[in-house]
Amino acid sequence: MKRCAYLFFVATVLMPAAVTIRSNFEGGNIGRVEQLAPNHFRCHVNGEADQQHRNRQASWYYFEIDGAAGQEVTLDLVDLQGEYNFRPGNLAINGHTRPFISYDRSKWTALPDNAIEWDKIDLRLRVHLTPARSPVWIAHVPPYTTRNLAVLLAELKGNAHVVMEEIGKSAGGRNLMMLTITNPARPLVDKKVLWLMARQHAWESGTSWVMDGAVRFLAGGNPKAAKLRDSFVFKLFPMADPDGVARGGVRFNVNGYDLNRNWDTVDPKLMPEITALRKAVLDWTDGGRRIDLFLNLHNTNDDFLQGPLSLAEPDYRDLVNRLAALLKKNTFYDTKAPRDWPPGNVARGRMDACQYLFYERAIPTLLLEQSVQTNARLGRPLSSADYRRFGAQLVISMAMAVGVGK
Ligand SMILES: [Zn+2]
Repeated sequence: MKRCAYLFFVATVLMPAAVTIRSNFEGGNIGRVEQLAPNHFRCHVNGEADQQHRNRQASWYYFEIDGAAGQEVTLDLVDLQGEYNFRPGNLAINGHTRPFISYDRSKWTALPDNAIEWDKIDLRLRVHLTPARSPVWIAHVPPYTTRNLAVLLAELKGNAHVVMEEIGKSAGGRNLMMLTITNPARPLVDKKVLWLMARQHAWESGTSWVMDGAVRFLAGGNPKAAKLRDSFVFKLFPMADPDGVARGGVRFNVNGYDLNRNWDTVDPKLMPEITALRKAVLDWTDGGRRIDLFLNLHNTNDDFLQGPLSLAEPDYRDLVNRLAALLKKNTFYDTKAPRDWPPGNVARGRMDACQYLFYERAIPTLLLEQSVQTNARLGRPLSSADYRRFGAQLVISMAMAVGVGK
């Protein structure tokens, strides 16, 4: 008996603890995990498909590795092949994306190039990792969960410049929020209106960090922000798909609907998120109020601006070009010539938010895609601090592009 206890003691002290992987926490997601060797795991990225079982995207993983402190662990991320707008071959996770790791889920660091091997035949991203501590978390992009948003909203409580409204509930019953930031002492009629939307697609946590940075700047004590609040109203949808964010989803709501398509076929039961967002915007404009620019924030593997250039008035094209020039001059955004995306020939159920709002109410809308790969101007993938900094620079640039006065 004593001998058994002694052997057990020796075994537990001398044998390294078993390495375990889990994702059963908010925003976490990894599929089947196969252990190929004690410290080598084949991790299937779950991905998600839409209501027609098409357009599978494998663009999110976020999981915890426990028991691996000081040991090299090899992770093979597989099942990465996706489909985009019914075209196969999409690879959101690839040899140019860098996993981020964290020991506290607050500070996230991109792994260096030499930690990665990309197998272009098997479409496999191999990650070599020797965690300094345990547990360690690994994710495609620094995660921003509903908890991060709750912290932000709690900090804004009592701020005289901020109005927070619940505009509806998601399909999963979560609050859909809208923030209005302005100086309430100045009359609305003298102000221009800038609208931003983030996180229509759950995996695109970069857009939440940008929104977080924009909100903190606009609501904060910087004299530049005070000046903007005097002349502008900022309307903000901080998280369009809280259910997807909570479950570690990809780009569809709980019923499988892509929240940046379907704006022309909105169904309040199946897509309550689109219903609520759309109604908030249309109530605003139909009440005789203006929107000078509606910007829809998204993440992909490239930086680009896209809007209805060929259908809109010349004023709109000038505005988009001014914004592009300001972003190029004042930020690290890798600005190129804006892309044309007219709503004219879109199949039913495929109209996105920008296309719909332009098509229905001629609202000047613009999509801003931001890369999660290496930023061409910084030479590294963006950290949460980079995204936040960009958020402040972005709203300043939007205000400058729109200008004050009539
Ligand atoms: Zn997106």
